[in-house]
Amino acid sequence: MPTMRTADRYVRSLRELELVLYVDGERVADPTTHPRVRPAINAVAATYALAHDPRHRELATAHSDLVRAPVNRFTHLFTQPQDLVRKLELQRVLGRLTGTCFQRCVGMDGINALFVATWEAGGDAHARFVAWLEQVQRSDDVINGAMTDPKGDRSKRPGEQPEQYLRVVERRPEGVVLRGAKIHQTGAANAHQILVMPGMAMRPGEEDFAIAAALPVDAPGVTMVLGRQPSDERKGGPDAGNARYSGQEVVVLFDDVFVPWERVFLDGQLGPCATLLETFAGYHRASYGGCKPGNLDVLIGAASLLTRLHGVERASHVRDKLVEMAHLTETVHGLGLGASSKSTQHGSGVWQVDPVLANVCKHNVTRLPYEIVRLAEDLAGGLMATMPSLADLRHPVIGEALRTVVGSDERALALRLVESMSYGAGSVPLRIECMHGAGSPQAQRIVLERAVDWEAKVRAARRLAGLPPREGEPIEDRRVDAEIDDAGQ
Ligand code: SF4
Ligand code: FE
Repeated sequence: MPTMRTADRYVRSLRELELVLYVDGERVADPTTHPRVRPAINAVAATYALAHDPRHRELATAHSDLVRAPVNRFTHLFTQPQDLVRKLELQRVLGRLTGTCFQRCVGMDGINALFVATWEAGGDAHARFVAWLEQVQRSDDVINGAMTDPKGDRSKRPGEQPEQYLRVVERRPEGVVLRGAKIHQTGAANAHQILVMPGMAMRPGEEDFAIAAALPVDAPGVTMVLGRQPSDERKGGPDAGNARYSGQEVVVLFDDVFVPWERVFLDGQLGPCATLLETFAGYHRASYGGCKPGNLDVLIGAASLLTRLHGVERASHVRDKLVEMAHLTETVHGLGLGASSKSTQHGSGVWQVDPVLANVCKHNVTRLPYEIVRLAEDLAGGLMATMPSLADLRHPVIGEALRTVVGSDERALALRLVESMSYGAGSVPLRIECMHGAGSPQAQRIVLERAVDWEAKVRAARRLAGLPPREGEPIEDRRVDAEIDDAGQ
């Protein structure tokens, strides 16, 4: 019977890893105590804490048919339609609890997408994958879903610039050797295992780039480098904005990393790799309708708090701006829930989101949070640019005079939170992640153009305009028309 890790056991488990991690040009001996890393570890730890919290246990855990026991939802397969809805609800709770990216969803969405893809691949790929997943559910590991290749010059295919893609450079009797890099790796330095997957559909001749495999984060040859964010030096200090939690983005370098065959799930199967990408994109684009509304709840709360501290909370235009922020936030959440509710079951047994709504959800995430941030900055006022540090506000000589003119600690801390969530210290800047996480806006438009049923729309328009059916066109709706014409005759 697997036991789900607690937050404490999760943080301790990271100390047992021999991770090669660099931050600001220095090798980090213990990430769990590093001020730039610990806040991101805290955000992941929240996913463990909720699994043991009686208020949230039902959302944060699920029964696994694989290990016949409850598991953390972040290692669970979407085997029931309501699993997708619960995922969104859990992401909103965690987004609000941490105010940032809690980093564990790429692994969860990747697990489910790879379950589907390996099932389609046939052979023993699926059995190998399921055996690994059982181990993950028992260990309750954090899985870093690793998709994005650097890609270099976008006009060139992988074969023309192999160093820009993770690839197989050698196949041995016992396994494969991987070389290259994955970038924008959410939470990689806080994970136990890396699940590499191709970041784009590969063509015949590009089989070496079509690799999906799992490996420990401290496998020999893996090096991680933490991304640098604006005002990162404030992390862990009083001016951090978000006092406790942070997201994390990492560059992961693979220098001839060996992976045994039992952890290689796809190797050169182009069709299943394309399925993997499409399925993952759907899941993760819906996921943004869970976490981002949770983050935006915090931003709305901080803006609302500031209007009270400024004494303008009764002004009608202020109230209207807060209503607008809430309305835009719920629009995104509703789209994520819609994509998750309108799910269909794949032959493998796993449920898949509605691709149109999932992509519309993420597409709105590339826009609406920008307007919400604009309104938050409007309500916060220009003081955000002038607010001195907490050290100045609390200074024995100048502190009292400063507090008289710029306000209390309360106002300073609330302003810092708005600042850090819009573009600043405490977390991965919300807007950049909203724009590019789970795919940049054009990626969603490409899927939408493919997934929208244009012919059904043209058919409806022709029928109602009084045009005859085209050859071979379904005519069920025209039968309804005829039935209605005849009704009461
Ligand atoms: Fe999860 Fe959102 Fe972070 Fe993606 S961006 S890992 S969905 S919290
Ligand atoms: Fe993300």
